[in-house]
Amino acid sequence: MAADVDVIVVGAGPTGLMLGCELALAGVRTRVLERREKPQRDSRALSLHPRSVELMDQRGLLDRFLPLGRTVPGWHFAQLPTQLDFSVLDSRHNYTLFLAQAHTEALLAERAHELGVEILRGREVTGLSQDADGVTAEVRGPAGAGTVRARYAVGCDGGRGVVRGAAGIGFPGADETLTGVLGDFAAMDTGPAALAAAREGGVLVAPLEGGVTRLVFLDPERMRVPAAEPVTLEEFRTSLTRLCGSDLGVAGPRWLSRFGNATRLAESYRAGRLLLAGDAAHIHFPAAGQGLNTGLQDAMNLGWKLAAEVHGWAPAGLLDSYDAERRPVGRAVTENTEVQTLLAELVLTETYRRPAAALRSLLDGLLRMEEVNRRLAAQVSALGTVYPATAPGADPLVGARMPDIALSEADSTAGRVYDLLHEGRFAHLDLTGEADAASTVPARWGRRVTAPALTGYDTHADLEGVREILVRPDGHVAWATRHPHPRTRDEERRAALTAWAGDPV
Ligand SMILES: Cc1cc2nc3c(=O)[nH]c(=O)nc-3n(C[C@H](O)[C@H](O)[C@H](O)COP(=O)(O)OP(=O)(O)OC[C@H]3O[C@@H](n4cnc5c(N)ncnc54)[C@H](O)[C@@H]3O)c2cc1C
Repeated sequence: MAADVDVIVVGAGPTGLMLGCELALAGVRTRVLERREKPQRDSRALSLHPRSVELMDQRGLLDRFLPLGRTVPGWHFAQLPTQLDFSVLDSRHNYTLFLAQAHTEALLAERAHELGVEILRGREVTGLSQDADGVTAEVRGPAGAGTVRARYAVGCDGGRGVVRGAAGIGFPGADETLTGVLGDFAAMDTGPAALAAAREGGVLVAPLEGGVTRLVFLDPERMRVPAAEPVTLEEFRTSLTRLCGSDLGVAGPRWLSRFGNATRLAESYRAGRLLLAGDAAHIHFPAAGQGLNTGLQDAMNLGWKLAAEVHGWAPAGLLDSYDAERRPVGRAVTENTEVQTLLAELVLTETYRRPAAALRSLLDGLLRMEEVNRRLAAQVSALGTVYPATAPGADPLVGARMPDIALSEADSTAGRVYDLLHEGRFAHLDLTGEADAASTVPARWGRRVTAPALTGYDTHADLEGVREILVRPDGHVAWATRHPHPRTRDEERRAALTAWAGDPV
C-alpha cells in the first residue's frame, strides 16, 4: 500500500510539534494527528531550561520565544531554599526562560505551519500496526473512521498514549503514591506577609501573565487523593489555610488541577517503525520542570536521524542511537524527580518529619557548594548532557554540546556556530585556519553538511588544540580531531562523515 506521508506524528503537544518541525526542516512529509479539536489553553509547564533555549537558538527561533517570556537565573531543586544557579554554566543562554507551555506550543505550531507540516486536529489515533514497508494508523476524525499509511510513526501522545501499547513496548515503573495540586487565580493577596506565609507553608507562588498567579503545593492531609479526583476551590482554600494559616485571599480560579508522581520509563524508544518521544516515553512528578524540556530534546535528537532513514542515507545504527542516547537521559530525569519527590514526601510524613528536615538542611548546605550546585544545575538545565562516544579513541569533545563560538574574532557579521545549524544540517569546522583540501571533502556529502571557510574564530577553553570538528544537526559533537598531520585528519574525517552522514552523494 502506498504511503500517504513519510511520518505520522501522534500528538501535537510540545514534543510532537517540535518533532514535526525537525522532520519538515529535513524535507520529510509529516502529518501530525491530534485528538484535541483546539490547542490547550492551560499551561502545565512554565520553564524552558537552558538547553531548550539553545535548541531554539540553533533553529533561529529565539527571537520568537524570548519576547514572550522572562529570564530567571536558575530554578529550584526539591524546593530547597538554595536555588540551582544556571548563570555559572558555560552557555550564552545560561538562564531559564519562564514561559507558559501554551506559548511554547503556539510558537512551535506556527513554525510547523511555515515548514509545511500538516497538523490535523480533532483526529484520534485508535490503533496502529506495522509491517515490513510501513505503518497503518486507524484514525477517528470529523468525517468518521479511516486509515493513514506512512513509513514510520512516532508516539508523542503523552503518558497514556496508544502508540506505546501498539508497539508492544513495556512501561515499567511505579504507580502514583502521592499527588500535588495547582491553581491559577485571577486574584490573591500578594502582600509580604501573605508571601512569607506561603513560603513557610511550602506553597510555590509563581506570577503568570495577565495578573494571574499560580500556586502549587502538597498538602499532607490530601496528598493520597488520586490525581483523577477533581480539585474544588473549597478544598484548595482549606488546604491553604492548613498550610499557611489563611487561604491567601485566592479568588477567581482559572484552572485547578491535581497531578501525581507515577514514574515510568519505556523499555525501548523504538520497536521497528514505531518510535516514542516525550511523555509517551517517560513520565514522572513535575519536579524542577523537566518533562517538556526532555521531550523537546528527544525530538531534536530523533528528527534528523529519522529523516536520514526516510531519505535512505542513514548509516547502520543511526536510528537506534536515538534510544541509546536518549533513554539514559530519560532514566536520569525519572530518578532525580523520584529523589525530589521523596524529599518532599518525607518531610510531610509525621514519622520522618524531623530527620527529613535535617536531611533537607544538609542537602541545602551541599547545594551551597559551588561544585555540587554546578553539577546538579548541569543536569537539570540539560547543558551537561553528553552522549556516549561509540568510536574507539574518540576525542573527549565527542557527544558533548558544541560551544556556540563566534565564527570570526574580527567580523561580528560572520555569525556563530549555532547560526550554521538553522537548516538542521551537519556543520564541519576547520579550525586550522588553513582552509585547504579539508573543507572541500565535506562538499561530497552535498546538502547534508555545511562547511564554511573559517578565517579565524573565537577561542574557547574546550577547543584548545582541536583542529577540526563535525557538529551534528542537533548541536552535539559527532567527531573532533587534534591530529597535526593533514593526511591522518583526512582519513579520520572521511570515516567520521561516512559514519554519521552516510556515504558521499
Ligand atoms: C503541574 C505540572 C507542571 C509541569 N511543569 C513543567 C515545567 O515547568 N517544565 C517542564 O519541562 N515540564 C513540566 N511539566 C511536564 C510537561 O507538561 C509535559 O512533560 C509535557 O507536556 C509533555 O509534552 P508531550 O508533547 O510529550 O506530551 P503532552 O503534552 O501530553 O501531549 C500529548 C498530546 O497527544 C495527544 N494525544 C494523546 N493521545 C492521542 C491519540 N490517540 N491520538 C491523537 N492525539 C493524541 C494529546 O491530546 C496531547 O495533545 C509539568 C507537568 C505538570 C503536570
